[in-house]
Amino acid sequence: MRKSMASRALEGKVIVITGASAGIGEAIARECASRGASVVLAARRIERLERIAKELESSGAKALAIKIDVSKEEDCECMVAAAVERFGRLDVLVANAGYGLMARAAETNDGDARRLFDVNVFGLLSCCRAAVPVMRKQGGGHLILISSVAGSIVSPLSGAYCATKAAVNALGKAMRQELRQDGIDVSIICPGPVRTEFHSLIAERTGMAVEAGPKSAVQGAEDIARIVTRCVSRPERLVITSPAMRLARLAYAHFPWLVERMLSGRLRASSPSRSSR
Ligand code: NDP
Repeated sequence: MRKSMASRALEGKVIVITGASAGIGEAIARECASRGASVVLAARRIERLERIAKELESSGAKALAIKIDVSKEEDCECMVAAAVERFGRLDVLVANAGYGLMARAAETNDGDARRLFDVNVFGLLSCCRAAVPVMRKQGGGHLILISSVAGSIVSPLSGAYCATKAAVNALGKAMRQELRQDGIDVSIICPGPVRTEFHSLIAERTGMAVEAGPKSAVQGAEDIARIVTRCVSRPERLVITSPAMRLARLAYAHFPWLVERMLSGRLRASSPSRSSR
């Protein structure tokens, strides 16, 4: 059977994925492994990672599980060192680990906001900082940053989370310009709502009912994984993963007052007075 271009492009590549113990990261790891890449799965829940890695290896892929907390710089360095030690190089870093927070912006407590930035922004930056020297030495590589449409469409109760994703977008755009001369591509992937544990974890932390979004706009983690593998074979600048979100982003750019009025309807549906993580 002839292999697709995407499969050929992934074959033999070494791909490190943070947040690979669940959701989008797990789906990316599975998709990359199925296309012949060697995958390094990183997150805090090592037992989950080891189970996934074992499963992938039993179907013929090469996989390594490594326990890291992205908010610890030394863990990010160890992750990159372990990938190079095991597979000899590092072609792609998918910086995906992250979580959400729901709270009114003016009532988000400092600790909650700082923890969120430590993971979603500084954690991502630590991973990139560890990966770039290896890629530079190799003569190239690819950073794929999992951001969100929340980085450009800001909704109520998500101010701090949206701020982390806006920061990821800015860092990604800067890195792309700075790393071009080293042959390192930078892609920013912006999903809209995706069916994962993301929303139930927010609900657990806040005690609020949290819905992923309107059914028609919700994507599966596998959809995002396919977009990421396409991006590995053909690097793109920025990808908004769903047509509905591309439309929403366009509407927000041209009619921000209208979109904000519609989004503020969320406040009537659920109205916490303080963040509670
Ligand atoms: P999940 O909650 O399903 O998965 C999050 C992953 O991140 C887990 O593997 C978790 O692993 C890992 N993680 C969280 N904190 C840390 C940490 N400190 N160190 C290392 N790993 C960590 O969420 P998603 O798969 O949905 O989210 C993945 C990314 O996609 C996030 O960056 C999120 O912001 C983004 N996104 C999600 C959307 C959605 O609707 N689901 C929409 C747009 C963007 P562990 O707990 O084992 O450490």
